[in-house]
Amino acid sequence: MTAEPMDLGYLQRIGLWQGGAAPSNGREVPASAPSGAAKVSASSPSVAAKAPTASAATNGSSGGAPASGGGASGGAKAPAPVSGGLTEHVFLTDTSLVELDGCKLIEAALAEKAEKPAEAPKDAPAGAVMITVILARTVFHSQGGGQPADVGTLTAEGLPELAVSFVSCRKTDGAILHDSWVLPATADAWTKAAAGSVQVSCHVDAVRRKLYARLHSAGHLLDCAVNAIQPPLKWVPGKGFHFPDGPYVEYVLNDDSRKIDMKKPGEKEGTLKEIQDNMDRFVASGARVNIRYQDGVRQVEMVGEECGCGGTHVADVSEIGKIEVRKMANKQGNIRLSYQVV
Ligand SMILES: [Zn+2]
Repeated sequence: MTAEPMDLGYLQRIGLWQGGAAPSNGREVPASAPSGAAKVSASSPSVAAKAPTASAATNGSSGGAPASGGGASGGAKAPAPVSGGLTEHVFLTDTSLVELDGCKLIEAALAEKAEKPAEAPKDAPAGAVMITVILARTVFHSQGGGQPADVGTLTAEGLPELAVSFVSCRKTDGAILHDSWVLPATADAWTKAAAGSVQVSCHVDAVRRKLYARLHSAGHLLDCAVNAIQPPLKWVPGKGFHFPDGPYVEYVLNDDSRKIDMKKPGEKEGTLKEIQDNMDRFVASGARVNIRYQDGVRQVEMVGEECGCGGTHVADVSEIGKIEVRKMANKQGNIRLSYQVV
């Protein structure tokens, strides 16, 4: 597995790290971080400020191997705004916010060939080209942290509507890139408009946003359910993949961890049932999902478990609804728990 240093400068630019000690807990790459930006993990919900040491998760969207959460601890600096970078990341503030007016158009440009996805979405018109739109602020969550990108539309007075099919965060400056496949005439209208002063409205698909938030929160709740088992499993949360198509969380096992004999009759099934029972109990009783910043790192807490995270979440775990813990599998000595929200 490749060790990749955490880009603290980048985290700072996008507002997930505001200086001070390096982020020390949490398993996930910030949602806005591009693939490869490492985030550290720790089994403890405590947030002691120290240099990261534990293994890390990659951007779950890539499905790649976990990278190690290296990186030097940062020097103390003056706190930066919560959502720094070229684009203000309004999606970090309120998951229920799916409409946002008054987003200044900074740039609309035809994508460089090398940046284009392999092919246009199925519903793109024939002959479509891809344009990338950058706004001064947005409620579109960019793909990352194991969570899919939001989809939706962008509108502006006098311009044709844009269907946003993919959203990513540019590492160099924190710009949120809204990709849209459109006919050349539409691309032309937007690229020309970018030279002026245009205010854009964001419209995120609320149904998908809610689904993605439920899936992501369910992944966090799985950690709570695992950690609530007695005697303790002491599994360390690793990579998280919170896409609708086969979501899972992988747990890293160390010398202290309780091992599961997958071949021993009933052992795996018994543990799965305990985890499922815990999940059901947490959802039934409900608990607020709390978001705060610690040393400039966005921390998401539910049922007493907290980790660094840039994703969108439900406001209360009861909103996740029924979660099925479907499978426990060995992955190179680690444990993968697959789940689904139903
Ligand atoms: Zn998360």
